[in-house]
Amino acid sequence: MNLHFSKEISLYRNDLPHKIYARIDRIDDIDEETVIIGLDAVSVKSAEQAFKTASNTEWSIRWSEAFKAPGEHRSLATELFNELQLYHIEIRQHRKEAELIKERGAFNSTSLGWMTIDMNRSEKPNDISASVFNGLFSNAMQGYIASIQAVEPGLAESLMAVFSMRSWPKTSIQSLNSELPNVEASYWAAYDVGQGSANGLLKSNGQVTLFHDIGCGVYRNASTRPPNLVLCNSHEAPIILSHWDTDHWAGARYFAPSSRPNTFLHRTWIAPYDLTIGPKHIAFAASILSAGGKLILVQTEAIKSQSYTLTDGRILKLIRGSGDDRNGAGIAIEILNFPENWQRWLLTGDVSYEHLTPHICESYLAMSVPHHGSRLDPSANVPFPVRTQGYARLIYSFGADNSFRHPKPDCVIEHERAGWAHTGWVPHSEIAKGIVGGDVTATACHHPGPSHLGAILVGWNGPPITPRFPSCNTQCNASLMQG
Ligand SMILES: [Zn+2]
Ligand SMILES: [Zn+2]
Repeated sequence: MNLHFSKEISLYRNDLPHKIYARIDRIDDIDEETVIIGLDAVSVKSAEQAFKTASNTEWSIRWSEAFKAPGEHRSLATELFNELQLYHIEIRQHRKEAELIKERGAFNSTSLGWMTIDMNRSEKPNDISASVFNGLFSNAMQGYIASIQAVEPGLAESLMAVFSMRSWPKTSIQSLNSELPNVEASYWAAYDVGQGSANGLLKSNGQVTLFHDIGCGVYRNASTRPPNLVLCNSHEAPIILSHWDTDHWAGARYFAPSSRPNTFLHRTWIAPYDLTIGPKHIAFAASILSAGGKLILVQTEAIKSQSYTLTDGRILKLIRGSGDDRNGAGIAIEILNFPENWQRWLLTGDVSYEHLTPHICESYLAMSVPHHGSRLDPSANVPFPVRTQGYARLIYSFGADNSFRHPKPDCVIEHERAGWAHTGWVPHSEIAKGIVGGDVTATACHHPGPSHLGAILVGWNGPPITPRFPSCNTQCNASLMQG
């Protein structure tokens, strides 16, 4: 495993890179004027090492062999990824300046979004100040960007051969039946993981049988992650990754018991096929393969949803969002409580409602608010609650005092308007403060009181009695405190 993903912060390298290859990982709105550009980067030195070991064509062959049965072939393509010098770099900019950076580095079509960046340790005139992270949970180091240039087409091809999914196998959303064995959905647990997302579908005895994301707070929001949380690992539950954003997968090692650190990597992972991701996500995917896990990539295609019957008779529908960015093209899940009361849950990930239409319903018994409560698009129709004996649940998954100031007031207000009772939480200040009530639960609270509110357990007929489950092999310790 690459040390960038380690939960042992003391293992992180302590170096600032001089020259890197990077792709834009995400652009986050901070306020009307400011954005933070996140870059997914690998040192030029390590990339060149990868190019030296094999030609572009040979890399395609390596990758396809890595996806075959576990064994020697896998290590060929994956051992190199353990050693890569990976960086996450953040640049805080005025919106207009950010456009200039995009033009210089990323929007040159022959560069396929790849850029070369030169960095200084001390500031020179015209340098751009940047925060450099050596690992998911590290503190930021201060660096200075001297230049950003789009890469030449030949180099872009080499970078795509090693650090993209281009030669990886794809699967249709319709052919995943055999990948979802023994899944049951008596309960839905939304874990308190800080600024990120992790959900489990549970059997009646409390075992997790399927994960939808296993992320947590990272980088600038690393301090929002809970310490010492171990998630249920007693059942070989597959993991559906809604999309390739770090806050949705970074818990795979972090929430594993220390005696079995690869227990979540060594699983079946179902994730979107995505050609926009960069070296960090590719290295994480490689760590799934080298841990003996199975990685299934769902292609973007005309067919956006598919239903599967679970072991307990309930129906799970996978919905691939129709948006054109990573969040909007993610995989959401709907569960139908068939044949009992025909109620439904909706697990959105970061996919907003307009990208799930027409595959979702007008109303749900329970749902998670898309993208941690970020601003909603005006075209989004928020589903309304349909209650069983007065019971419905709306879930906000975010970390206290996160840098995005999620959940946003307009998002809370739109959900309140759709009929979800927020009892006193509708904010008239900047962000939702205090502890929520009514139909609504949240994994955190900005102020006042304890910032971590604990995992949320959702049922079908009313609030489950919590905490109700024995720990998983005595190692799992997620307290399902909120019903
Ligand atoms: Zn996301
Ligand atoms: Zn997210």
